Amino acid sequence: MATEEKKDVGITAKKEEDMPEWFEQVCLKAELAEFSDVKGCMVIRPNGYAIWENLQEYFNKVIKSHGVRNAAFSLLIPESYFKKEAEHAKGFSPEVAWVTEAGDSKLEERLAVRPTSETLICKSFKKWLRSYRDLPIRVNQWCSVLRWETKQTKLFLRSREFWWQEGHCIYETKEECANETILFLNEYKKLCENILAVPVIAGVKTQKEKFAGAVDTYTVEALMPDGKALQMGTSHFLGQGFMKSFEVQFLGKDEKMHYPFYNSWGFSTRLMGGLIMSHSDNKGLVLPPRIAPNKVVIIPILIGKETEKIVKKAEEIKEHLSEFNPLLDNREEYTPGWKYNEWEMKGIPIRLEIGPKDVEKDQVVLVRRDTGEKDFVKIEDLKKKIPKVLDSMHENLFLKAQKLLKQNTVVAKDFGDLVKGIREKKLVKAKFCNETECEDWIKEKTEGATTRCMPLDDQKIEEGDQCVHCKKPAKCIIYFSKSY
Ligand SMILES: [Zn+2]
Repeated sequence: MATEEKKDVGITAKKEEDMPEWFEQVCLKAELAEFSDVKGCMVIRPNGYAIWENLQEYFNKVIKSHGVRNAAFSLLIPESYFKKEAEHAKGFSPEVAWVTEAGDSKLEERLAVRPTSETLICKSFKKWLRSYRDLPIRVNQWCSVLRWETKQTKLFLRSREFWWQEGHCIYETKEECANETILFLNEYKKLCENILAVPVIAGVKTQKEKFAGAVDTYTVEALMPDGKALQMGTSHFLGQGFMKSFEVQFLGKDEKMHYPFYNSWGFSTRLMGGLIMSHSDNKGLVLPPRIAPNKVVIIPILIGKETEKIVKKAEEIKEHLSEFNPLLDNREEYTPGWKYNEWEMKGIPIRLEIGPKDVEKDQVVLVRRDTGEKDFVKIEDLKKKIPKVLDSMHENLFLKAQKLLKQNTVVAKDFGDLVKGIREKKLVKAKFCNETECEDWIKEKTEGATTRCMPLDDQKIEEGDQCVHCKKPAKCIIYFSKSY
């Protein structure tokens, strides 16, 4: 009975053999998310949403500590607003869904279902801003957005509707605004590395890859185990373009009218796809411990005559460890082995097993999800031991992911290296002329590799350095890869 049940619920695809199938099974079987009946849309189930809530809780503290406040803007954006910023409208138009009628009547003006909220928020800024004393204005919104993807959709990684936060701030000076763009880029890097154990590269997008309407787009990029890059968060320096289009102005100290400077920044549920794919294994979900909603599952081994005593002890331990939000699985209809498999699949970082002998010795068996290592721990030591194990897991997951990133990054000296690197699913670092035409050619010749970013910490270009493709003078160092 037990083994057959196991077959039904376990992950049947291998990460190293069929990553898309494996990834989907992890999402479905760990009950994180599923497809909705509307093509390309998804349902985030409670197990998945609890992770998202932890991300929200963490990041709300971050943004509030920097003085940004939450607000809510409307879901629908009038077409006339949407069209005001020409580049923005052009960039987003292929992906916008429109509301054209309500009940039986056609609307006078089409309404866009928000793919992002710059245009709507600019309209509010216009109303709120009078003088330099009102600046900065800094808001953030948690919501879902809709982008009508035509590529094949994937749970978390690419769905038409996804959830995110979008921060929008305007400043009196360019410098303050640009500083904040970098501030939130760094916050995204910290979130990815210190909380999600996913190493990222922080850099700038090319003009071709930047956000529609931005002066510069900054990004943190992670490399997935299948060799595709995933954008984990972006921060845009928008300059004054939107401000001019929407006539957002303020009376300056000099009694003259000025345009403020604008930035926006966001991360989305796509990032959850990144953390699931980075760490999980063939047994199922591996969650970085700092974001895991339940750090511990307690499994009493109900054998022998004194099962009541074991259950009672397990309940005491649950109470004792409440700060780790533990689960207690005392279901009698499943074997301990079946339960181990189930909670491994659901990614609980630490399993505590307690049987008759353990009760006698006032101990438990502690098992780590990432390595499977087992350890006998005295019950009185658990509160001290668990945080150490969780930190060590975080470290282990981060180092593993970092090793993978290093192993899969190559430097291309010439175009042959670049093509080979992309074919071998590597992240390829190269010198580049930074011209859109050359970028288009590289994408075509490599069957889809795009520029990911120019890393901020490595831009040493010397006299005589050439572009990896066109041989014109190199202007930057950049990463190429395929991407989600
Ligand atoms: Zn070039």
